[in-house]
Amino acid sequence: MSYKRVLLGPGPSDVDPRVLEALSRPTIGHLDPAFMEILNDIRGLLQYTFRARNEMTLAISGTGSAGMETCVVNLIESGDPMLVCINGVFGKRMADVAERAGAKVTTIEIEWGKVFDPDQIRQAIKNVKFKVVGIVHAETSTGAGQPIEEISRIVHEHGGLFIVDTVTSLGGMKVEVDKWQIDACYSGSQKCLSCPPGLSPVTFSEAAVKILDQRRSKVQSWYLDLTMIRQYWGSERLYHHTAPINMNYALLEALKIVKEEGLEKRWARHLANHQILKAGFAAIGIKYVTQAGYELPMLNAIAIPPGADDLAVRKQLLNEFGIEIGGGLGVFKGNAWRIGLMGAASTRSNVLLFLAALEKCLAEQGVKFDRGASIAAANNKASQLREN
Ligand SMILES: *Cc1c(COP(=O)(O)O)cnc(C)c1O
Repeated sequence: MSYKRVLLGPGPSDVDPRVLEALSRPTIGHLDPAFMEILNDIRGLLQYTFRARNEMTLAISGTGSAGMETCVVNLIESGDPMLVCINGVFGKRMADVAERAGAKVTTIEIEWGKVFDPDQIRQAIKNVKFKVVGIVHAETSTGAGQPIEEISRIVHEHGGLFIVDTVTSLGGMKVEVDKWQIDACYSGSQKCLSCPPGLSPVTFSEAAVKILDQRRSKVQSWYLDLTMIRQYWGSERLYHHTAPINMNYALLEALKIVKEEGLEKRWARHLANHQILKAGFAAIGIKYVTQAGYELPMLNAIAIPPGADDLAVRKQLLNEFGIEIGGGLGVFKGNAWRIGLMGAASTRSNVLLFLAALEKCLAEQGVKFDRGASIAAANNKASQLREN
């Protein structure tokens, strides 16, 4: 079976043929010196991509959620107070993970689609000494990009450790682990890194490693215990679990592509294609559900126009054009669409293809708009951006 799709959902995103070729190379042993070289190269490229010098930088076997769990279980011991900031599905998930890990969890939740004001965090930590504060950088369920730097400063003044979810943002917009003083940061292979799902890049600061070294109890999860996993990734090369060999080949190739393009150029490409799509939406009256000014470049969360049937449109996009987009999650279920422009899928051609396909679907549903206007506006925006 083989399907031809254009993946414009919330992930996975389109995978470069070079990465698929890497995935198909012969499997070797997980203790083979050649594989150890591959792990070292992955570490170096992840340090580049995360903008982190952290020695403890590696890819966890598992998807983005495994990275989330890794950060939480390695820093939390039973009863430790943790604050989780919720403005969408993934903040909620982090709170759930923390509770299961035995943390004493406090949450602050704001309206989905909005971002936190640093003062809200300042208020929340005023009277409790939290060991860890967790937040999501790019909330894929709402399309909102959370500014991180100021909140990091507040958390550190308070003496806490700061966990940031960069599953959707890494490789698609600015992420600065060292500069923003993030203590534990995790991502996923299948969003803006454009690799199949299955590995979760994670990086721990020196302060986080110190907390790990000073634990009184064993890490709650055997599989995600970094005190053991680091003996495999480190110079000891001690067996812990069998690394998913071919997925690591794929991630290495995907990271090489990121480096070849260059991070700044990659961020600029994501931003430009988002602006082109946004101009197209504006021309046919489609609105974002995200707080204005905080829309993510790689994930466009829009209100379903009145008169359009959520499922019928998504089905037609998939069956007639091979285009996948995402439906709404949580409070946006049934009333929002999520259009991802992640990694290799963030191209001007994909934007134009999508707008043309969407216009056809909406017109057939009887939605009233100026036919062709989104494409004209997108093309205009693209030439404007090129002139700058
Ligand atoms: C996709 C995503 C996750 C979960 O990743 P999985 O690979 O689905 O486990 C976590 N956080 C954010 C922000 C995401 O977009």
